[in-house]
Order: sequence, then C-alpha cells, then structure tokens
Amino acid sequence: MPDTREPSPPAGDTLSTYRAKRSTDRTPEPFGTVSSIPGNLFVVHKHAARQLHFDLRLEMHGVLRSWAVPKGPSYDQNDKRLAVMVEDHPLEYGDFEGIIPAGNYGAGGVIVWDRGEWVPLEPWREGLEKGKLLFELKGYKLHGKWTLVKIKKSEKDWLLIKERDAYVKSPGDEFPEESVLSGLTVEEIMAGANVGAEICKALEHTNAVRGHVDAQRVEAMQRERPDRAVTRDGWLFELKLDG
Ligand code: MN
Repeated sequence: MPDTREPSPPAGDTLSTYRAKRSTDRTPEPFGTVSSIPGNLFVVHKHAARQLHFDLRLEMHGVLRSWAVPKGPSYDQNDKRLAVMVEDHPLEYGDFEGIIPAGNYGAGGVIVWDRGEWVPLEPWREGLEKGKLLFELKGYKLHGKWTLVKIKKSEKDWLLIKERDAYVKSPGDEFPEESVLSGLTVEEIMAGANVGAEICKALEHTNAVRGHVDAQRVEAMQRERPDRAVTRDGWLFELKLDG
C-alpha cells in the first residue's frame, strides 16, 4: 500500500475560497487553518440547503477536499452518483453540524451523516491530477471500496461509484438517516432552531418574570451551613459530601 501519510503542504492557502464565501460573525461554521498533521479523516455531511444534498469530504493536504453529491452515495455499482468538486473545507468542519443561518452561503441544516477513515488504495496526489481516486471507506455507514472518477472535459464534475466487494446492500435497504454524532436527523436539527422561540412564547402566557440572564455571571447553587438546624414539612435532606 502506498505511503499516504507523508505531509505535503499545499501551495498557498487552499481555504481562501471557503473563507471568501462566509462571514465569521454571521455563521457558526468553523474557520480553521490548514493542518500540518497528516490524517485520513473522511466525512459525509447531509446538508439541507436550497437543494438537499450530501457532501463527501476527504482529508488531503491538511484540509477537507469536498464534493457535493446531490443524491448521496449508493451501494449499487451501476448507480454512478454525480459528485461536484467544491471548495476545500477546514478540518474542523468534520465536527460541524448545526444551522447555517438564512442569508448565508449554504443556509440550512447540516448533520454529520457519516464519518471515519478513508484509505487510499492508489497514490492520491497523482489520482487527483489524473481524475481518478480509488479508496476504502471505514465509516459507520459507508464501508468498502469506492472510486471517484472525473468526467472527461469537465471542470468539476466527478462520479462516485461503489466498487465490487463484500459490502453490498439489497435494493430497498436504506441508510440510517440520522447523524453519527448527535443521532438527530437534519430535519430535527432544523426544527431545533425554533425551540427557544417556542419556549419564550409559552412563557409569555404564564406570568413568568421577564429578565435578562447573563450566562457568564450565573453561579451554581452551593450547599450552605446554617447557624441552626432547619427543617420543614415535606423537606428531604441529603448528605454533604465534600471532596
Ligand atoms: Mn453542502
């Protein structure tokens, strides 16, 4: 197997396109730097943007090289899935799930649909130049050998194809929908955006005291030692265990 772990710093900052599309103060997405520690992370995000799609990301050159896969991966060898190469993402993006607020690039919900290690089965630097990558995925949902092959004469269009191996799925077998990090579906992540608003609305109907709480100034309630023993009907006591 070729040695793929040797670091190779990319020419220039390959995250400049990523950053140019986003503003730090308007989106919760990470703005990390190019990593100098070699690794083999792979991530598949499920992204409910204007068009629902999947994003396959393979760690290369200290960033996540990324392809948007409109229909997502398929275990059917004959089902070649379009994979459009998009801008490199920072490694930290491998942990990202949440909501990209409306009005921002890629607005919508994002979950980590699968994650694990990718193992190049051919030298990937040449493969990237020639337009063919053969690799194995060791994820929670995706396993076995896969090929990414660039469509001739196309700038960014590749195909994601399952290679023949022991990992097969029967027709009709669906991948689990939820995140491998949070267990939430992308729909649940998006619904969560309004939970706070719903609670506030419900509180308005009660006579709840309104006020501003500064989370940084809130302190945990501590046990206290009173001057004399106190008790009241219906009270329970627990031992104060220091240490
Ligand atoms: Mn996307």
